[in-house]
Amino acid sequence: MKNNLDFTFVKYKELCGTIVESKYATLTFTHYFSLKNIPEKFIILRHDVDRRPENALEMAKIENNSGITSTYYFRRKEEVFKPEIIKEIANMGHEIGYHYEVLDKAKGDLEKAIKIFEKELNEFRKICDVKTICMHGNPLSKWVNKDIWKKYDFRDFGIIGEPYLSIDYTRVLYLTDTGRKWNSRFSVKDVVGANVNQAIEKMKSTDDVIRLINEGDIEQMCILAHPERWSDSFGAWLKELVWQNVKNIGKAILVRRAYYGKEGGGSVSEMMQEIFYMPTDEETVTLFRGRKRRKNAYYGGFKNLL
Ligand SMILES: [Zn+2]
Repeated sequence: MKNNLDFTFVKYKELCGTIVESKYATLTFTHYFSLKNIPEKFIILRHDVDRRPENALEMAKIENNSGITSTYYFRRKEEVFKPEIIKEIANMGHEIGYHYEVLDKAKGDLEKAIKIFEKELNEFRKICDVKTICMHGNPLSKWVNKDIWKKYDFRDFGIIGEPYLSIDYTRVLYLTDTGRKWNSRFSVKDVVGANVNQAIEKMKSTDDVIRLINEGDIEQMCILAHPERWSDSFGAWLKELVWQNVKNIGKAILVRRAYYGKEGGGSVSEMMQEIFYMPTDEETVTLFRGRKRRKNAYYGGFKNLL
């Protein structure tokens, strides 16, 4: 029987199978930032490992069995930074990157932050080679971790790219599994036709993503899948769903305050929209940063992300 429960490993296997059968090449970020000849059609699979590293290992195995390589950005947190899991994923040929949150850890102190960065990067490099990094966004923090690169240069640390800073998302379609539905944040109007854009806007389920890949109209895509949002049993799946929704209701309230100020504002339906819109941690951070800019904060804020 076909399993149609979305955001399960069974569904992820189906997605990987589709990619392998398609005309798209799969690239890691290191490939993308260093190859001289980039294939015309490619998909970069990105995974931010915020929690549950064992789920990342499961995903890595599924990809490996399908013949796909991807990139895993691990946080340097006790419950996430598991050298044996990181090593196992790297040994499959996947790229390991560092999901840094150093401005949060240093409470905005740049000098302290760069020291933490260097120390943590070295801890990763004791396990495997690390050439790319990607910031983690914490919705409760007032700092945006990538801002550290306004003062320092990651190239000085042998890093060749940061997905939030080194990719032109007007050319590469960016899809993310936010709150267990697929979202695209960026307009690709210049490179694809109106029909394709409509299809992207309506996209929700992994089946929609599979369809998009089969149609093959979009040349370049970056797909972000958080391993902790995918699970193999119905119980775990349900638990994650509840957790996501609890978190997102909290986020929606905070986002609303960021936008409207402390007094609140907006109708209940707007509030509901925000709950179901469900921004990612990274996006929420950007919204918070936009608090002072108010009007830019809501949608304009996404541009700051790039
Ligand atoms: Zn993250």
